[in-house]
Amino acid sequence: MKPQVIIIGRPNVGKSTLFNRLVGKKLALVDDQPGVTRDRRMGDAVVAGLEFTAVDTAGWEDEDPDTLPGRMRAQTEVSIEGADAALFVIDARAGLTPLDEEIARWLRTQSVPVVLVANKAEGAAGESGVLECYNLSLGEPVALSAEHGEGVADLFGALWPVI
Ligand code: GDP
Ligand code: MG
Repeated sequence: MKPQVIIIGRPNVGKSTLFNRLVGKKLALVDDQPGVTRDRRMGDAVVAGLEFTAVDTAGWEDEDPDTLPGRMRAQTEVSIEGADAALFVIDARAGLTPLDEEIARWLRTQSVPVVLVANKAEGAAGESGVLECYNLSLGEPVALSAEHGEGVADLFGALWPVI
């Protein structure tokens, strides 16, 4: 069985876009509106020859984005139990939000290795967001653009030691 890598983050940071980029197909619905990912989606992913099963999550999307409702949190907790690593995605253009910080706090209590992903980092607009996420104490972020493909291969260096 391939290692499983779960994609986690608040709504609209680009989790489904990254998932589609990793599996090379549009299996997940991408939308400007939060809440389009209703269930978990899995797909065969490859990064620079490293193969794994990617899992896109609805996570916290179905509820008030400023809270962590137990029901949705429980769903992600179940998903993370079977995962070999988590990609924690933040939006480098929007910068960190209280919900990012809350998810980060929760992830630090989990035993799964976490790779921090600063998405939407194409161009200069993401630079300060990339720097900000060093404050999450989750290690060095991988800055990339799921939409344009830049930096996605850098996930190899972050993932291969942990999966
Ligand atoms: P999710 O809710 O976390 O699954 O986010 P989606 O994948 O549905 O994407 C939310 C929005 O962000 C969509 O409008 C995407 O086109 C946009 N988006 C995703 N990745 C990038 C990126 O790398 N750069 C930019 N500028 N926009 C992106
Ligand atoms: Mg989604």
